[in-house]
Amino acid sequence: MGFKCGIIGLPNVGKTTIFNALSSAGAASANYPFTTIEPNSALVAVPDERLETIARLVQPEKVTPAVIEFVDVAGLVAGASRGEGLGNQFLSHIRAVDVLVHALRGFEDPQVAHLTGTIDPVRDAGIINTELILADLELSQRRMAKAQNLIKAGLKEAKAELELFARVSSLLNQELPLRACSFSSEETRILSAAGLLTIKPVLYLANLGEAGNRDPFLTSLKQLAEKESAPLITISAKIEEEITSLPLDEQRDFLKEMGIEESGLKKLIQGGYRLLGLITFFTTVGKETRAWTVPQGTTAYQGAGKIHTDFQKGFVKAEVMAWADFAAQGSEQKVREAGLLHLGGRDYILTDGDIIHFRFSP
Ligand code: GDP
Repeated sequence: MGFKCGIIGLPNVGKTTIFNALSSAGAASANYPFTTIEPNSALVAVPDERLETIARLVQPEKVTPAVIEFVDVAGLVAGASRGEGLGNQFLSHIRAVDVLVHALRGFEDPQVAHLTGTIDPVRDAGIINTELILADLELSQRRMAKAQNLIKAGLKEAKAELELFARVSSLLNQELPLRACSFSSEETRILSAAGLLTIKPVLYLANLGEAGNRDPFLTSLKQLAEKESAPLITISAKIEEEITSLPLDEQRDFLKEMGIEESGLKKLIQGGYRLLGLITFFTTVGKETRAWTVPQGTTAYQGAGKIHTDFQKGFVKAEVMAWADFAAQGSEQKVREAGLLHLGGRDYILTDGDIIHFRFSP
């Protein structure tokens, strides 16, 4: 795997409630064996209407959706960067995820204590963001000191590293999260590998509780998200948790009754998937129609290897249909007749929504 979304936020904002809703949604998703990796980590099926359409036309025995991993990273509090709470331990858990889902509390409930006594999700976002910035600052200053030692020892190559981490430290000192700053792709690779936290993409998740739309929080949260070009998704964690206990066909009716157009969980899973920079391609092999997850830029040859080493070793070509053409024509035969079936070689770059038939010589 390696496609991990970590749910972070202050205590009592609804992280575990959201995580439990995601886990039981995973458990309920048809045909996919729900997997608990650890108690705080779950593989979740990515809802995809394209896969449903293909399955309706192909009528396979088994339909397997794409999955991503969600991790409940509990316990981040102010002072974590100085090791307060279970600070360092949690910061290391955050280091292991690829995308941060930053949960913010917008719901009032006198039964549920709030760390600072008042509901103010933008202030809360600031508390967590400051901790992450401080943790990054400490790390980048350590890297600067290391580079300086290497330069002293005569290693001139360390100069570029010193300059990069000096620039990073200066940005962090201005309280800028690194995700909102511009770096070359090589610099981004170095900074991610160094374990910096604020370089990771963020999705803000506002838990608005039962009341639903709660301005003025929403307006200021939108401004915060826009400033960082980060997605903002609203959710009613407790309602979503209740919904997942219903049979699948009743879930849509329940949402409609609550005046919720689209499940917040669905928006969250799809939002995380997009932020990870992933695309989906589909295969029907034997009796199974399946969605596969690969990073943008994956070639047909690499995609074949994801399915089976035999597909890759004996790779001959990929027959490619766009899912929309398949849906419009109704069958592979008709797509072929309409001249819409394309051939791809090893270097063909997979496109989101491709239906692929790998030809290989055993
Ligand atoms: P965490 O500390 O961020 O993981 O928060 P939890 O998910 O454990 O939630 C803390 C408390 O808030 C629990 O008692 C939840 O039932 C409650 N809670 C979570 N989401 C909502 C919500 O949308 N509305 C209300 N009223 N309570 C919620």
